[in-house]
Amino acid sequence: MQQINPANIGELGLAWSYDTGQYRGHETTPLVVDGVMYLTSTWSIVHALDARTGKILWVNDPGTPRELGRMACCDVVNRGAALWGDSVYVGTVDGRLVRIDRTNGETVWNVDTRVNNIHYTITGAPRIIKGKVIIGNGGAELGARGYVSAYDAETGDLEWRFWTVPGDPSLPLEHSALETALPTWTGEWWKVGGGGTVWDALAYDPELNLLYVGTGNGAPWSRALRSPDGGDNLFLSSILALNPDNGDLVWYYQTTPGDNWDYTATQHIMLADLVIDGTPRKVLMQAPKNGFFYVLDRATGEFISAENYALATWASHVDPVTGRPVEIESGVYDSSGGVPIFPSALGGHNWHPMAFNPNLNHVYIPKLDMAGIYTVERDYNPETGINNSGNRLSPDEFGAAMAMRAEPKAYLLAWDPIKQQPAWEIEHATWPNGGTLATASNLVFQGTGDGHLKVFAAEDGKILHEVSVEIGIMAPPITFTLDGEQYISVVAGSGGAGVRQPEVLRHKQNTGRVFTFKLGANKPIPAVADKAIPDITPPQNFGTPMQVESGKQLYHRYCSRCHGGSATSNGIIRDLRHATPTIHENWNNIVLGGMFEALGMASFDDVIDEDQAQAIRSYVVKTANSTSEAEVQTAH
Ligand code: CA
Repeated sequence: MQQINPANIGELGLAWSYDTGQYRGHETTPLVVDGVMYLTSTWSIVHALDARTGKILWVNDPGTPRELGRMACCDVVNRGAALWGDSVYVGTVDGRLVRIDRTNGETVWNVDTRVNNIHYTITGAPRIIKGKVIIGNGGAELGARGYVSAYDAETGDLEWRFWTVPGDPSLPLEHSALETALPTWTGEWWKVGGGGTVWDALAYDPELNLLYVGTGNGAPWSRALRSPDGGDNLFLSSILALNPDNGDLVWYYQTTPGDNWDYTATQHIMLADLVIDGTPRKVLMQAPKNGFFYVLDRATGEFISAENYALATWASHVDPVTGRPVEIESGVYDSSGGVPIFPSALGGHNWHPMAFNPNLNHVYIPKLDMAGIYTVERDYNPETGINNSGNRLSPDEFGAAMAMRAEPKAYLLAWDPIKQQPAWEIEHATWPNGGTLATASNLVFQGTGDGHLKVFAAEDGKILHEVSVEIGIMAPPITFTLDGEQYISVVAGSGGAGVRQPEVLRHKQNTGRVFTFKLGANKPIPAVADKAIPDITPPQNFGTPMQVESGKQLYHRYCSRCHGGSATSNGIIRDLRHATPTIHENWNNIVLGGMFEALGMASFDDVIDEDQAQAIRSYVVKTANSTSEAEVQTAH
């Protein structure tokens, strides 16, 4: 589509916007069919809108129990729905696959895709191939063993399931590909699942009839804990080519053998035809978390090339003959403390979609240069229902390691996959950054964490247009044509894995919002209200130093993932330093009794008791009292 182009991009204006009514991370890629836009929001809710006006047609809330928010490793996000015939399909954060009638929004059926009630969460979009709905899930850090399943789109019957890692070796293998995988594991990995979850990347080549699946990291992260006598741990951090008719493995390529850093290969897989060394090749491209950009032959799985697209200190390069990364000393860590290693567990690139411009042979990558703090957890003791990555330091050690770490930097990187080198790159003012869209008129669209939609010239990265929407954008823009007019849409909403609200938006709060633009439209961008911060004085400090210290340890084990390190909020989930007297009075009822479950605050009564809940409160109160007025003002 070339109607919107570099000459007229300045005339792009807002046609309509729509509020999802849901807070936290919005990661969805909307679909537009027959003039209707289908998108998903937090809690796996599907919204159908008139794509011309944004008028709501129906909303389907699959009723995910809000207390399960605790089981979602990376917020209760959803990356999109799938369409087949007259139905919409969505995976839910409690592990169901739901079929919805797209004419009226009624649920036709829903099936539980989980096995043994383990905490499998679905955040990725299903894909549908020849009447089969393909769906994976997440949850490696919460005890999951990875698999991908195919369901009959009509009936919801399970057609096949491919387990990505072996289970208990005393039991029969579920399929023959696991005969290849089993000898590459040591230790007792199956007791905490092993990982290898299929939480996002699925792609299909109809000509080759191959389904490409990206698999996740090992769990726990450290291979010293997971598989102490070594091994590649197939099929962790791998790209798998499956026959979608029966789920048989055709070929595999492992990006990070013996994964030790949460380097998933679940980043989406892009199919393209490229001329390499004078020969046309059907390739598959991926920029997984590990910092290397891969080009593989997608018919055979043959390794073609890989080079650094982001800072990587765990490996020097990928050996061009073996296709294996060459690990180096700076990627080694142990239980003696925290070691900064690039990339972090957020990856050089994460789920945020990349885009391809076949005129220029550029891939546009939302890139992140950020070091992670890695350790082998002392006294590792996995518990049900919390993050068991095996990477926990004491709060003081973690704080000290973080203080040493350089500020993360986010970029829009235009990558040449043939030369395997950057074409150009733009550094953003803040991190994180959103998915990308490339159009035929040589424009690149990208949203930013500080709430801007930016438009760049595809050739050189020159900024051509910019709109401030005051809500962080993580999701990728899309484009579509209706009645001969080209539209651009993007969903804004901050949250998701490791996201901190940039300073400039920390006093703002809004539910997710869809923005749809076209040439000549001129609606004003709706204002975003300031966050309501109660004007309160924290209660008096209480508890013995030992209780406060114990509260600090417990806070960092159970609370910090959502409420932020050192009881300072990420700017998205409630800042506990601003807890009202009512919250303090009802503390145990909230933490243990599930009083705020409807808001997504889970009960923790299975892992902590009343005294421990009060110890956590004593730590939060102490933190609130030691935060200066000025800090409270800026740290909303
Ligand atoms: Ca992970």
